[in-house]
Amino acid sequence: MNVSGDETSAVFSNVKFRSCYVVEITAFSNGGNSTSSNDVEISSPVITPVWKVGDFLVIFGVVTVSFAVVLVSFIVYRYFKFAKVKRQRLEATADFYEHRKSASGVYTIAQIEQPIIEYSDKWELDADNLTIGQVIGEGAFGIVRKGYLHINSESIPVAIKMLKDYPNSSDLKEFQQEIEIMKTVGSHPHLVSLIGMCSWKRRNRPLLIVEFCAKGDLQSYLRSVWRKLNGHCMKIEDYKSLQYANNGEVSNKLYDMQDDLNGYILKPLDLLSFARQIALGMEYLSSLRLLHRDLAARNVLVCEDNCVKVADFGLSRDVYQDNIYCKSSGGKLPLKWMAIESLTHQQYTTQSDVWSYGILLWEIVTLGGFPYPDVATRDLLKYLESGCRMARPENCSMELYKLMRSCWEYNPYERPTFTEIVKYLNTLLENEIEYIKLGS
Ligand code: ADP
Repeated sequence: MNVSGDETSAVFSNVKFRSCYVVEITAFSNGGNSTSSNDVEISSPVITPVWKVGDFLVIFGVVTVSFAVVLVSFIVYRYFKFAKVKRQRLEATADFYEHRKSASGVYTIAQIEQPIIEYSDKWELDADNLTIGQVIGEGAFGIVRKGYLHINSESIPVAIKMLKDYPNSSDLKEFQQEIEIMKTVGSHPHLVSLIGMCSWKRRNRPLLIVEFCAKGDLQSYLRSVWRKLNGHCMKIEDYKSLQYANNGEVSNKLYDMQDDLNGYILKPLDLLSFARQIALGMEYLSSLRLLHRDLAARNVLVCEDNCVKVADFGLSRDVYQDNIYCKSSGGKLPLKWMAIESLTHQQYTTQSDVWSYGILLWEIVTLGGFPYPDVATRDLLKYLESGCRMARPENCSMELYKLMRSCWEYNPYERPTFTEIVKYLNTLLENEIEYIKLGS
């Protein structure tokens, strides 16, 4: 920097704080230049900020306001998210409830083929809205209790399925599978519908909540009708428990109300209507390419208004590309309900479900009779392979027996489809003829 010879000071600009500068002074004149002075070290000044009380207040204010904004945003976000989930749950249950209300009427295919919209957490119910009541049944995997689901000010009766104590991993897997299949199937007037579930996290075991069918399973119901019609005091044990491959027994509790059918005696047309409703449920199941594999009166439930619904999708499986499912693992098998190809080759198809439907039809006509009463399970295959089939029950018309027999055709493709069965039964119902004789 050059300054005039008169100056006794100089101002350096653009100096950096906390830096050290070395200054040399040299005089310039017309007579020549002086030698440089000794180096002088100059440190730039250190400025220490001086904090005032006001500054602290401003900083404190900014931090507090920012924190408050973040907190309020978080609370608002959580509130709206919770409200949305709650609304979806209520909508899901309300959908079901509306549907259930109309379940007593006649349903058209157009109605039932409405697409079902799924939300990922649609089925998760708040356990606090659930009252768990008495045991109403026992299944292979656990128990079934009656309960109530409280929505707004209403209490809807529900059946709550839960695993037995200390379930093993395969019980859990099967239970989970049943839930998944029910989710896939959605809602249909003649299939027991899923209302929701309380997952593992909420209770120490998962709960499956399905619609409640007040009159219990069809097999027990038919047998109580039979007892009433025949003036018998027959005990359920007299029928011998269901014969499974390993003679396992299923002991389901009878419903108290089954001793009191409210004075209403079932009419032959009611029985035919049961058959039609079951065929409608199965038609829908097969349209989803799902097999039941254990279709029997014990797996059909009866509602208060005599609407019947196919239940127990535990054994259901997706149909593989070739429409054939081969069961490789062991387990209890409902041999007397199984199609001939299922017995010989473990092949399960919609047509083998049709065979089981034929046996179910026989159960309906005989008011809960046990199939092939004179054939031991070990002789069943020989009996069927020789072309023998169950004879026409005395009270069964030829028209209905024809349908039964067609379900037991040796060649699966010669059996009717569920759609054809529905059509056939519609015609019989329209005729209003007593195709089944009840009482004397
Ligand atoms: P399984 O799987 O061994 O067939 P479930 O667990 O499905 O048995 O049902 C056992 C019993 O509980 C049924 O036979 C029936 O008496 C009763 N039950 C099951 N579900 C319902 C329901 N939704 N409504 C009324 N009773 C039911």
